[in-house]
Amino acid sequence: MARVVVVGGGYGGMASAARLAKLGHDVTLVEAGTRLGGALTAVESQGFTWDAGPSMLHVPAVVRDLFRKTGRALEAELGVETGQELTPLEIVREHRFVDRSVLRLPAGSRRAQTAAFDELGKGLGQAWDDFVTPYADVWDVLRRHYFEEPWTPGHLPREVAAILDSRDTLHKALRRAFRDDRPAAVAGHLFVAEGHDLRNVPAWAGVATHLEQLFGAWTLPGGMHRLRALLEARLATREVTVILDSPVLDLVVRDGRAVAVRTALGEVAADVVVCAVDPRRLPTLAPLVERTMPTLPPVITHLGLEGDATDATEAGGLALTDETVVHGDPTVVVRPGGTAPPGHTAWTLHGRGRLSEDMLKVLARAGLDVRDRVVARVDRTPLETVQAWGGSPYGVLWQGRGTVRQRLGPTTPVPGVYAAGAHATPGSGLAYVGLGAALVAGVVGPA
Ligand SMILES: Cc1cc2nc3c(=O)[nH]c(=O)nc-3n(C[C@H](O)[C@H](O)[C@H](O)COP(=O)(O)OP(=O)(O)OC[C@H]3O[C@@H](n4cnc5c(N)ncnc54)[C@H](O)[C@@H]3O)c2cc1C
Repeated sequence: MARVVVVGGGYGGMASAARLAKLGHDVTLVEAGTRLGGALTAVESQGFTWDAGPSMLHVPAVVRDLFRKTGRALEAELGVETGQELTPLEIVREHRFVDRSVLRLPAGSRRAQTAAFDELGKGLGQAWDDFVTPYADVWDVLRRHYFEEPWTPGHLPREVAAILDSRDTLHKALRRAFRDDRPAAVAGHLFVAEGHDLRNVPAWAGVATHLEQLFGAWTLPGGMHRLRALLEARLATREVTVILDSPVLDLVVRDGRAVAVRTALGEVAADVVVCAVDPRRLPTLAPLVERTMPTLPPVITHLGLEGDATDATEAGGLALTDETVVHGDPTVVVRPGGTAPPGHTAWTLHGRGRLSEDMLKVLARAGLDVRDRVVARVDRTPLETVQAWGGSPYGVLWQGRGTVRQRLGPTTPVPGVYAAGAHATPGSGLAYVGLGAALVAGVVGPA
């Protein structure tokens, strides 16, 4: 049995800790904040509750696998009989384009997506299909040899390296695939929303469009932050020691191996350390990632609105899909969700680009004028978000094809140190972060 110390109690740290404890290790999780969850948490004000960070789940199998492999199944924890389980979305998101045309992107069906694009414009269905379908092969290779099976940096199978090292960018791939800007904006949205420049995103990362088509997108009634409490309970069941309010200042390395982590209160001894925070925060690891940059979170506004989802007035438009993207500069994403007092609705807005005016004005111009319905409002700048979570939950900024090999994980060059979380491989988002935790558990192995 190894003494494992996990640094950081976000989704990545909690998932790693639960898995390693189940494998029989003696696990301590050290978190800087006063509670666990990181971005997976709620914001509350005036009777409204919003997801502070993630509200949608892609590839739900990853979260299900975590719960099943560490104890009771997720469905049992959520209470399926009460209708509180993960819910697949029929429409992943609505795209409102600058020319006022609208696409409602269906989930989980190639045929339905093709039909939706055909409705948007002649021949667009075929073009969309031609773009997305080849990613099935990319997914197949990456899933088997990169996302789901532990590997050693520098020893990636040849077919994986051929994909990851390709010079093709998503920007170029989209220009080749579409003469119409709108499907390109739909495919690029997943990256633009996370703050990336498509000229720096490798083309293979577009596999995300295939995953969304294949697995859809899922929400949790009441908010994705409910997973936080379930994971906290799972850590207790697995007897993980949790130390809160204790930022890890650095790793302690002796004879070339990590032997502890250092906090303001002293050292916590370790045979194995899992870094589930931005490695820049730990001076021993920082030089290893000096060529990477974190991705800035969006400008976030949580709104409490008068009127509910059955309110059909156009100005309210409160019966929106679970995500609506108002394209332009700035681009504003509307995520209805969370909980609200009766007769009210909770929305979260994410803004990217030239935000020289209030996002509510941008929405009003796009036909979503809710300015006179606002009864509660919480604003968060990107800086406040990064400070709240001690780093960016969106992980590493794409800076070209080399970025994929500059991320740490599942192993690191420091013996005894592993990397999980949004800044580690295979990347950010609950699905990838969950896969990363499984990879770390796979390389550390059973006690
Ligand atoms: C606004 C927003 C919306 C998002 N929406 C989605 C979505 O819909 N779907 C999706 O899949 N993903 C989404 N994401 C991404 C997702 O939230 C993240 O990829 C994921 O939660 C990252 O988990 P993490 O554990 O790596 O990091 P974090 O959640 O950032 O957690 C890191 C933790 O480490 C702690 N910490 C930091 N430094 C130290 C230290 N030195 N010592 C100890 N502890 C430390 C922090 O306090 C924090 O608790 C969203 C992110 C944001 C910001």
